[in-house]
Amino acid sequence: MAHTLPPLPYDYTALEPHVDEMTMRIHHDKHHAAYVNNLNAALDKHSDLHNRSLDDLLRNLAGVPDDIRMAVRNNGGGHWNHSMFWQVMGPMAGGEPMGALGDAIKSAFGDFAAFKAQLKAAGVGRFGSGWAWLVADGGKLSITSTPNQDNPLMDGKKAILGVDVWEHAYYLKYQNRRPDYLDAWWNTVNWAEVAKRFMG
Ligand code: MN
Repeated sequence: MAHTLPPLPYDYTALEPHVDEMTMRIHHDKHHAAYVNNLNAALDKHSDLHNRSLDDLLRNLAGVPDDIRMAVRNNGGGHWNHSMFWQVMGPMAGGEPMGALGDAIKSAFGDFAAFKAQLKAAGVGRFGSGWAWLVADGGKLSITSTPNQDNPLMDGKKAILGVDVWEHAYYLKYQNRRPDYLDAWWNTVNWAEVAKRFMG
């Protein structure tokens, strides 16, 4: 079955003023849609692969045929990353996670402020386009970043939060100021969803 673009789980204006409406419209309706379309076009060349889940394809890229492996990596990664990204953001969000996730963050990074500083540094430090990630290995958390549309799943790891640092994610509102975008982005983080992924 063909992969489909998931609807944005809130209005395009819901993340204002931190992420602007026009960015959300183009990011979801054009960029994410293109990843889905290009993934399907690649899989059409090996239509048996339409039966495999996206997670399964990305965990086993070495098993994807040579002629479409890079297309699946880039566009399947793009589809997975953005599907997660919309979910881990939301309106009236932000703040600080409590419970097991809050404890795991303190245990791994010292405190919430240190965690935020490290994830921001990973995003600012990613040269060119990519993502910064919070990864859970069992109950242990760590931060990493990837280029392009790569993600931790491709290395067999579980990402529970990711932030898009491609210019298309922030340029209309923040231009070259990626650090300002990352500072504002914390106000959109849906910690209940991140906690769900941490426990899951
Ligand atoms: Mn993006």
